[in-house]
Parts: sequence; structure tokens; C-alpha cells
Amino acid sequence: MQCVELADGRSCPYRIQESDRARKIRIRLSAAEGMVVIVPAGAAPPRENLERLLRNKSRWIARHLHRFAQAGRAAQAGEVVLPECIDLPAINEHWEVRYADPDANQASTSTRVRVMTQGVLRVCGPESGRAEDRAQALRAWVRVKAAAVLPTWLAELARDLRMPFSRVTIRDQRSRWGSCSCHGRINLNCKLLFLPRSWTRYVLIHELCHTKIMNHGPDFWTLLTMHEPQAKCIRAEMRTAWRLMPTWLTSR
Ligand SMILES: [Zn+2]
Repeated sequence: MQCVELADGRSCPYRIQESDRARKIRIRLSAAEGMVVIVPAGAAPPRENLERLLRNKSRWIARHLHRFAQAGRAAQAGEVVLPECIDLPAINEHWEVRYADPDANQASTSTRVRVMTQGVLRVCGPESGRAEDRAQALRAWVRVKAAAVLPTWLAELARDLRMPFSRVTIRDQRSRWGSCSCHGRINLNCKLLFLPRSWTRYVLIHELCHTKIMNHGPDFWTLLTMHEPQAKCIRAEMRTAWRLMPTWLTSR
């Protein structure tokens, strides 16, 4: 085990794993294993290169480790942890979340999320409001946010890559990032906002490629790799993507 110092001053242990399939260094983070640095077999990089890479990524690493710790504590307690902030790496936005005191004299019955100013949300609701109601209101906000940005992004890519689609719908699915019907109707998961930008872009391009080829055969991968050369690498990295989701987003 070796250690790297993170942006927040904590030090994080990691283990190095050689891989025959890896072409370049990548970092795998998971709640179960912590940080694993995957390097091409037989070509272990010089220690200073590795340390520089880890230093450059240290904010990203710290953020994910923080989420794993939060999720672990919440799972143990069986409760929803409401966020103090919401990071949306896909669109490079960061939102602070404030919780208003329950409005006892107003006869409000529902929990609402309001945008105070760019980057600040306020959650208001009745005195009887439970944490789960607040989480639900925040999830509804995420869906609205996704509906405001993902269709435009998809349309831009469709135009640039010349792969038109007929309709796009934003959903809050549990186990799929996106899908495409044989009529060119694309569904996108609102949780895509919580992924690194390159991963979300990959999902959008993946679904657009399905407007040409429905299956995942070799022709599909040739087309996809033409538009996103890192496709296979990103797909492999995305195996742990669900673990990056905060608990308030996935609890139900
Ligand atoms: Zn697919």
C-alpha cells in the first residue's frame, strides 16, 4: 500500500494493479476497495509520473471518497443523508443547498425546492416534513434540471455527428443510463448529471449511435469508437458509476 496526499490534506492509501488490457494509467475508486491505480502490465510508470497524476486528480478523488464515506454511514443507519451541496460534474455546476425552517404558520403541505440564485437552492416545506420528502423534492429538481440541459446537449451532438433522433425523454431510471428505440426515441437518465462530463457525453453518443445500429455488435462499436475514441475505456470505467450516486438520489 502506498499513499497520496489529497487536496483536502487527508492522505489516501492506494494499491497498484497491473492489467494486460490497460493501455494507460487509470484510477478506479469504489466503496469496497478504495483507490486502485491500474497500470499497463510490464510498463509500470515512474513513481513521479504516477504521483503527479494522483495530485492532479486529488480533488476528484477526495470528492468520491467523501461520498463513499457518507453513503456507508447512511447505509449503516438506514437513513437518507440530505446533501449540503450538489455537484453536477457533467455540466460543471455546483449547488449549495439550504434548508429553511419549517413554515409553521403557512399552511403549506408540500416540500418545494427553489432556486435562490445561480448555485444556491432552498428547500422549504411543512413542519411535518420528513427527510425523505426533502430528498424527493431535490430529486424532482434534478429531473427538471436534466430536462433543461440534456436534450439541448443531445441535439448539438446529433447535429455535429449527423445522427438525428426523433424524440428525447428524461427519466429517473434505477439501472439504465439511457436507451434508444427502433424509432429513434431516446431516453436519458437524469442521474447522468452526476457523472464526469466525458462519461455523460459517451452515453449520449452511445444512444445516438443506436439510431443507426440497434445492437451492440462489432459494427456498432466501430461507429461508436469513430465518434468517441475512448468509448471502450469509458465503458469499463463506468462499471462502478452507480456507486458514485449520493444516497438521497437513489433512496426510495
Ligand atoms: Zn447500447
